[in-house]
Amino acid sequence: VGGHPTPQAGPMKPTGVDRIIAIASGKGGVGKSTVSANLAVALARQGRRVGLLDADIYGPSQPRMMGASGRPASPDGKTIEPLRAHGVTLMSIGFMVDEGKAVVWRGPMLMGALQQMLGQVAWGQLDVLIVDLPPGTGDVQLTLCQRSELTGAFVVSTPQDVALLDARKAIDMFATLKTPVLGLIENMSTFICPACGHESQIFGHGGVAAEADRLGVPLLAQLPIDLDTRLSGDAGTPIAAGDGPMAEAYGRLAEGLVR
Ligand code: ADP
Repeated sequence: VGGHPTPQAGPMKPTGVDRIIAIASGKGGVGKSTVSANLAVALARQGRRVGLLDADIYGPSQPRMMGASGRPASPDGKTIEPLRAHGVTLMSIGFMVDEGKAVVWRGPMLMGALQQMLGQVAWGQLDVLIVDLPPGTGDVQLTLCQRSELTGAFVVSTPQDVALLDARKAIDMFATLKTPVLGLIENMSTFICPACGHESQIFGHGGVAAEADRLGVPLLAQLPIDLDTRLSGDAGTPIAAGDGPMAEAYGRLAEGLVR
């Protein structure tokens, strides 16, 4: 762990990992990390061996969302021991830097860190490694797609046009890099008033489904705006770890992934 990570050439797919699924979005704040955490927890609850790599280097959310903290140990000075939370093997750049401190790194440092998290972490045997990507179409996405033999990507978007516009760019990037887009996930698709039960489509309706149609990929889930999803994320116990409709929705998403 010590010293500055330096990038090296070569493939970065950890041995023992069956498939790597990247969770991507065009914009930040659409729920990419929330979906990543909950999908990982749902998979673990179904008995899958699952890892979660928080590759959102500039804004790592997984330590908070998964309720995990501490510095990963490196007993031999070469391999890094990941943490465990909610049945998920977990690694995040957030474990290496202090919460609240900015990561001010140039490209090579960034790539070195990414490479360490993939190549030097003792992931063990995993059915699925979920990678929570940074938003957008930058260096991290490029490197991962080109070097880590991604099985495919899920693209998360909210229904409003500005989010969809950027989601399309992410989808376009995956097409260019020949990474299969396995499906789209619409998050914050509708709001059900807890007081009166009225359903409002605050961010619009139908855009993500139309995009999935255009691409010929499945719309894997439509997840509502849900107060408990946000509260449980902030509290470090993803909603998929509990019971109720949201946990069930993530359970279905997880089932579809490894079928
Ligand atoms: P991203 O990873 O795309 O930046 P996050 O997963 O960090 O987005 O989500 C941003 C914020 O929105 C977080 O506070 C999260 O708890 C909240 N959030 C995400 N999805 C939902 C949802 N379906 N309902 C309510 N809040 C949500």
